Amino acid sequence: MTLKNPVIGLLGGGQLGRMLCEAANPLGIDVAILDEDMSPAKQAHNTNRHVTGSFKDPERIRELAGHADVLSVEIEHVDTEVLEEIEKNGVQVKQADGSSRIHTPPVHPSWRTLRLIQDKFLQKEHFRNSDRRIPIADQVAIEPGEAALDSLRDAAARFGFPFMVKARKGSYDGRGNFKVAGEDDFLPAIAALRGLSLYAEKWASFVKELAVMVIRTEDDAGNLKACVAYPAVETIHEDSICTKVFMPPRDVQESVSEAARKLATDVISTLWGRGVFAVEMFLLEDGSLMVNEVAPRPHNSGHYTIEAVPQMSQYKAQIHAVLDLPVPKTLAPRVSSAIMLNILGGATPDAHLALAELARSTFDDDMDVYLHLYNKASKPGRKIGHITVTSNLTIQALEAKVKPFIDLVDNLRR
Ligand code: ATP
Ligand code: MG
Ligand code: MG
Repeated sequence: MTLKNPVIGLLGGGQLGRMLCEAANPLGIDVAILDEDMSPAKQAHNTNRHVTGSFKDPERIRELAGHADVLSVEIEHVDTEVLEEIEKNGVQVKQADGSSRIHTPPVHPSWRTLRLIQDKFLQKEHFRNSDRRIPIADQVAIEPGEAALDSLRDAAARFGFPFMVKARKGSYDGRGNFKVAGEDDFLPAIAALRGLSLYAEKWASFVKELAVMVIRTEDDAGNLKACVAYPAVETIHEDSICTKVFMPPRDVQESVSEAARKLATDVISTLWGRGVFAVEMFLLEDGSLMVNEVAPRPHNSGHYTIEAVPQMSQYKAQIHAVLDLPVPKTLAPRVSSAIMLNILGGATPDAHLALAELARSTFDDDMDVYLHLYNKASKPGRKIGHITVTSNLTIQALEAKVKPFIDLVDNLRR
């Protein structure tokens, strides 16, 4: 048998792909990326296997598949029809002698999982109806076209105000969500989400949002091997976009964090394929948990694992899982606390520079500061970097210590 370094074919080359490359580089694992030239991930990894184009273009996806030992994604909004076709029929690869052969790379996580998760309404129906009976917010599909208004009235009668109208597909960072506070919002909601397939969701009056990353492995026949949970974190969303992450969650009992990890592994066990997954949850006033949504890939709420989890980061875990390399049995932090702050583009292209400078110039015996800039053009509200701080102080003491960072982060959004 000839040994060679594995090649992961990745659809999408944003910051998640970039950090995946940063984890793959020292392992000698090649990551072939399908995205525009000079996308953040391509800047971080040099290979002649990159493919230029859109990760929505079937022809380019087939070309990428020809280079890859396994196909994976950094974004769920991809063409799952072509991934299904590749896994079933393979792609033609030209040999050096001019002949061609069929190459059939597996897809992880499975295209089945990607297809299900793409439709947030169906995703949650699946969780609720699975034998794990996962708790989700009450939800109802909204009829298209002229019937939408009546459908919204029915939703209001069922849920009361406020409730959430969401695009079933394609949304991220809250784009595609509309909070309906009263009847006056019906028409604005329809106008704002025009042309999209919609559903309505009961308002979750949560006390906190929690998230748990899970590593899922299975054998080649599709039998679940393991679901391993990272520590639970508290996520803060402002204007529907994640701005801050706290590990451990503040003012949350250990038993609740453990229940969140258990729920997350239950959720991910109902899906298909290998990889890391994020489970976003609401912690309700009565102490119970409800699943908001799942991301089938590394996630913003898992950035802290790069520095805070010694066994492996979510990116190394993604690499290990999709290549069927061993993954840890348990994942525990090496520090008492960690805080992740997203750097969002501000009103001017250089608005974030003071924050970056503060991160570069801070040295403190009680906390370590890690700056990650993605080398993306700054646009207002765009995720262009993050800062993780880790410490053996309590999470409250660390929060107090990073106040100057938090103040600058909050200022960026004004
Ligand atoms: P992401 O970037 O995480 O993919 P998204 O666009 O898919 O975001 P959601 O996760 O559905 O959007 O919602 C974004 C945020 O809006 C949530 O994290 C939460 O703060 C708020 N939210 C969503 N659904 C509800 C709800 N039913 N009740 C109250 N708040 C909600
Ligand atoms: Mg989402
Ligand atoms: Mg979300």
